Amino acid sequence: MHSENKQTMTGNITFTIIKPHAVRNGHIGPILNKISESGFKITALKMLYLTRGEAQHFYKVHRDRPFYSDLVEFMISGPIVVGILEKENAVEDYRQLIGATDPEKAAEGTLRKLFAESMRANAVHGSDSDENADMEATFFFPYSERF
Ligand code: GDP
Repeated sequence: MHSENKQTMTGNITFTIIKPHAVRNGHIGPILNKISESGFKITALKMLYLTRGEAQHFYKVHRDRPFYSDLVEFMISGPIVVGILEKENAVEDYRQLIGATDPEKAAEGTLRKLFAESMRANAVHGSDSDENADMEATFFFPYSERF
C-alpha cells in the first residue's frame, strides 16, 4: 500500500509550519499557493495541535531567550499546518521565499511580508539546515505519510 512512498535525498527537502495566527486568519490556501507557484512540491501535509511539550522541544534552542515561553504559548494557541516541501536546494530557496524573521525586514513578496503580524506571529517556519529539515520532517511524518 505504501510502495509509492519514497525517501528523498538530503538537500532536496525542507520542513514548514503555517503558524496558528495564519491558520486562524484563513491564510492556509494563499500560503500553499505561493509555495506551489514557487516550484516546491508538497510531499506531506497535515493540520494538528502541537502539545506544549512538542512546542518546547521544537524551539529548545531558544529556551534561554526572553521570548521563549511566549513563543511556546503562541505555537499551541491554535491548530497549525505542517508540511514537507521538495525542490532542489529546498532549505535555502524556502528561506528566501519566507523572508526575514522580523517581518518589517522581510522583502516584498515573501510569505512573512505578506502574512506576518509580528516577529513572533511571523506566519511560517522554514528549516534552517538540511540536518534540521530531515529531523523536523521525521519528527512529524512517518514514511507512510510522505509521498
Ligand atoms: P526563524 O528561523 O526565521 O523562524 O527564526 P529563529 O529560529 O531565530 O526564531 C524562531 C521563532 O521564534 C521565529 O520564527 C519567531 O516566531 C520567534 N522569534 C525569534 N526572535 C524573536 C524575538 O526577538 N521576539 C519574539 N517575540 N519572537 C521571536
